[in-house]
Amino acid sequence: MNIILLGPPGAGKGTQAQILVEVRDMVQLSTGDMLRAAKTSGTEMGKKVAAIMDAGELVTDEIVIGLIEEKLDGEAGGGFIFDGFPRTLGQADALGELLARKGHNLDAVIELQVNDDVLVDRIVGRAAEAVAAGGTARADDNAESLKIRLMEYYKKTSPLLGYYYAKGDLQAVDGLADIDDVAASIAGVLDQV
Ligand code: AMP
Repeated sequence: MNIILLGPPGAGKGTQAQILVEVRDMVQLSTGDMLRAAKTSGTEMGKKVAAIMDAGELVTDEIVIGLIEEKLDGEAGGGFIFDGFPRTLGQADALGELLARKGHNLDAVIELQVNDDVLVDRIVGRAAEAVAAGGTARADDNAESLKIRLMEYYKKTSPLLGYYYAKGDLQAVDGLADIDDVAASIAGVLDQV
């Protein structure tokens, strides 16, 4: 079973993906995590995307499609969870083509519905928690980048809701509920596809 988790930054995609990895042995494909790893290890691509990511803007479709394509040839476990990908209509088309070419289906697109005030609180809270735990906050977890990330979401990613609705793949869950309740709603959706 292959699914997309769709929602704005802070909607809980990463948290829910981790639960699905544990419970269903699925494989999380987070382009954000892959890009952060490239940035940290200082690869050429990592250097190229660092400033764009820190500002909260989207990196090019070509880069993220390449990252995903590589992973689709790897271990699939209980299926892939696309987390933070696709984020543009071009990426969505490319994902459809890649999956078809590799003989995989897309079984569901799950929209985590939240409201914007909660997103800001969650992201500011995530940054504070990371610092309190002795680590460092994500470079893009600050008020200025967050504004841009939200605008990128509304301008470029939110059209995917209509795109997947029209394909008959979209399923919405309440992302404002407790983590376990959101996980239960997602499980309910997955058990029916
Ligand atoms: P995330 O961890 O998903 O919030 O992603 C962090 C940052 O990585 C984003 O703000 C973008 O700069 C970049 N990024 C991650 N996924 C994508 C994507 N699918 N398309 C373009 N940029 C992405």
